Amino acid sequence: MITTTQLPVLGFAAYSGTGKTTLIEALLPKLTQAGLRIGMLKHAHHNFDVDQPGKDSYRLRKAGASQMLISSRNRYALMTETPESESEFDYLLSRFDDQKLDVILVEGCKNIAFPKIELHRAEIGKPWLYPSDDNIIAIASDSSQSDTDLPQMDINDLDAIAQFVLNYVTEITSPKSDKGSSCCDTLSPAFLSVTQGQEKILSLVDTVSDTEVCTIEQTYGRVLANDIISPVNVPQYTNSAMDGYAIRGDDLGREQYNVVAEVLAGHAYEPALELGQAVKIMTGAPTPLNGDTVIMREQAEHQENTVRFPNATIKRGQNVRQAGEDLAIGSDVFTKGCRIESAEMGMLASLGFGECPVFRKLKVAIFSTGDEVQAPGTAQQSNSIYDSNRFTIMGLLEKLGCEIIDFGILQDDEQLMVDALQSAALQADVVITSGGVSVGDADYVKLALDRLGQIDFWRINMRPGRPLAFGQINNKPFFGLPGNPVAVMVSFINFVEPALRKMQGELNWQPLKVSAIATEDLRSRQGRTEFSRGFYQFDETGRMTVRTTGKQGSGILRSMSEANCLIEISPSVDTVKVGENVTIIPLQGRI
Ligand code: AMP
Ligand code: MG
Repeated sequence: MITTTQLPVLGFAAYSGTGKTTLIEALLPKLTQAGLRIGMLKHAHHNFDVDQPGKDSYRLRKAGASQMLISSRNRYALMTETPESESEFDYLLSRFDDQKLDVILVEGCKNIAFPKIELHRAEIGKPWLYPSDDNIIAIASDSSQSDTDLPQMDINDLDAIAQFVLNYVTEITSPKSDKGSSCCDTLSPAFLSVTQGQEKILSLVDTVSDTEVCTIEQTYGRVLANDIISPVNVPQYTNSAMDGYAIRGDDLGREQYNVVAEVLAGHAYEPALELGQAVKIMTGAPTPLNGDTVIMREQAEHQENTVRFPNATIKRGQNVRQAGEDLAIGSDVFTKGCRIESAEMGMLASLGFGECPVFRKLKVAIFSTGDEVQAPGTAQQSNSIYDSNRFTIMGLLEKLGCEIIDFGILQDDEQLMVDALQSAALQADVVITSGGVSVGDADYVKLALDRLGQIDFWRINMRPGRPLAFGQINNKPFFGLPGNPVAVMVSFINFVEPALRKMQGELNWQPLKVSAIATEDLRSRQGRTEFSRGFYQFDETGRMTVRTTGKQGSGILRSMSEANCLIEISPSVDTVKVGENVTIIPLQGRI
């Protein structure tokens, strides 16, 4: 479930100058008189502060309190510092006390997906929002609109607006309504945030059920289908951690010891060590019975058959690795869902496994679409571009260890698409296309999918990357990625990869995200997640910094090739200034 609050949420969207706050201020008494308990969420400029310099709370915050709760007989306020980035809208909603409210009204947050009333005044001279925003559920204006079925109210008729809000709250919260909440789940095909899109997709895909047994040398990149329990002790026997001399721990402080043997790795000195005896021992060789203490060779003076340790401070038990010290027999090593990489391969081998159970490989069908798209390796035709998306996707799938079924390039033809999509869904576990999912005249993938059903067209609040089609064909997940080459990669990284990893059996995979200092101003639009192509590096003082790779057009694949990370600017941030922190997603190992 995506919703974080059980309360109805209703926003007021308008350009500045429309008088939002004044209107809401006049509306609230009418709503409270009708018995509604109201929570308000308002987005403010990042320099805004509710506190005032000189107040105790202000001083304590500045002195380092990252949360400051101040309370009195009449109210309390919790101020939480969020220097890294503004909190997500959903998270902010979850801060309200569901038990104490009937509705949350939101002022602003124009570009976030939730139901809103659009406020519009002709004299301000701004365009309408509703034609391009499916989240607008009613309009209040000083003019009437003939091109919409949305409920309309006079912006100066506060009673009518209040009545609308009351009806809305009643409808959402009445038991016969199955909406349950007003959040974005009910709003498809509206805007979704990146996180909402990811959660929704993850909730709709399942891990393949088939498993197979692989020899260890074939397991690189595969996902374990069983827990691994250690069948042995590691190390198997107690052994020396140094090249040196083993003596008895109850026999320290002697002038000299008799060297009775030399033990190399792979061999053993069978008798028990007696008082006054030492054995010369190599790293990894088993310590003899009672020989529980090893003195390193550099501290020893070895003459003929005796050894002395004149300057050594010796502690009983030193320089010895105990049997089972790294891993005791019967202990948990890896859990089902762990992806096997180099270290895991080595570990499995170190436990003596010659093979292990893994989930079977995912079969992924891919194709490109568009009359203008031409296969590489042929002479360039007029009005065409070479297909890059299919190859980018191949690489991305290769990294994830998928089996690829390449359907090539499909012409813009509805029947061809329908046939190809159906046949792909029969052969593969997942189908991925690129291009043809926007609202252009030749977006045939969209037409074909409309016929095949069970496909949602999402406008993800992100750039680059929207639109995105996701659904099921023949019960197989389908991803319709955008056509633009950078958008393809960015959507793959954000939506396809997490889903494929889950289907492959990998549990709770999360992409690595870290924070870096921006060395240039970064702009983004409020309400949308911006993924710029970035290059991170350490500066001369050792701080992690990041810059963009230059021009960011979504067709410029070169920007992806020059990047070593994506810079993620969250929906609540519109500008990141030089010197501020920004989130980056390193791409090494992923693309
Ligand atoms: P579409 O969504 O089909 O309108 O495509 C958007 C843009 O991406 C257009 O400029 C297409 O020419 C381009 N495009 C679509 N498919 C590919 C592809 N396979 N390789 C490179 N560019 C593509
Ligand atoms: Mg196209």
